[in-house]
Amino acid sequence: MGKLDGRVILVTGAARGQGEQEARLFRAEGAEVVVADVLDDQGEDLAKEIGARYVHLDVGRESDWQAAVSAAMDTYGRIDGLVNNAGILRFNSLVDTPLDEFMQVVQVNQVGCFLGVRTVAPRMADGGTIVNTASYTAVTGMAAVGAYAATKHAILGLTRVAALELAQRHIRVNAMCPGAIDTAMSNPAQLDPAADAEAMSQALDGLYRKLVPLGRIGKPEEVAKLALFLTSDDSSYITGQPFVIDGGWLAGVAVV
Ligand code: NAD
Repeated sequence: MGKLDGRVILVTGAARGQGEQEARLFRAEGAEVVVADVLDDQGEDLAKEIGARYVHLDVGRESDWQAAVSAAMDTYGRIDGLVNNAGILRFNSLVDTPLDEFMQVVQVNQVGCFLGVRTVAPRMADGGTIVNTASYTAVTGMAAVGAYAATKHAILGLTRVAALELAQRHIRVNAMCPGAIDTAMSNPAQLDPAADAEAMSQALDGLYRKLVPLGRIGKPEEVAKLALFLTSDDSSYITGQPFVIDGGWLAGVAVV
């Protein structure tokens, strides 16, 4: 018996990173999974490997959402869950952020999440689940990621309102707020064949040993387990909440 037997879940940004681990874990727990991304080759390969359906979905495009949900319905006949995981990060101080860059981050992170809720919820079975991927920066500030932090704060607002509006249909909506997680987003060297990704990982580990009480960067598999909890009946009485998963980073600072 899997925790997601008989359920159909769409995961955005699932070709790699946290989304990939969510797709793998959900499949292992018995769900039919729709792997959605803009990285078609990687997404197709993953879907083939785990026995899922791949769809091309740019989360900022309304028409892509309609097509993705139709593909899920055509393939599996229903949809019970959504993980809004796709996201992008840009580094800039606020005063140096061009409007285009700010809007690009809004379009993917914030509009993508809104369109996901708006497109999927009406076609979702009653009792379904939505998990929005926010961030540690949804609940506190971080210099140099102003556009990103603004969108992640907004995702918590969307999560709370969606939870209230969809509760009558017993659709639960929650958000995850990961701290530093070891994916291409926090370690872009993973994507560069010329870079020493292992050395970069070790350097990041050194940094997070100092910053994070648990002394290390998080693993995408650990976030996937939280997504599973929020997508399964284990969280049946929880809706509208942000869940921080950050190794204790947000707990405060140690001065001695
Ligand atoms: P990642 O960069 O490895 O994965 C992001 C995925 O989103 C990629 O597969 C990418 O192709 C996809 N994507 C980007 N733009 C898209 C679009 N327009 N439409 C569809 N897919 C798109 O990074 P990750 O760490 O796996 O990120 C997953 C989520 O977790 C993101 O929302 C990110 O903001 C959030 N997050 C990450 C960290 C971290 O430290 N890695 C921390 C907090 C929150």
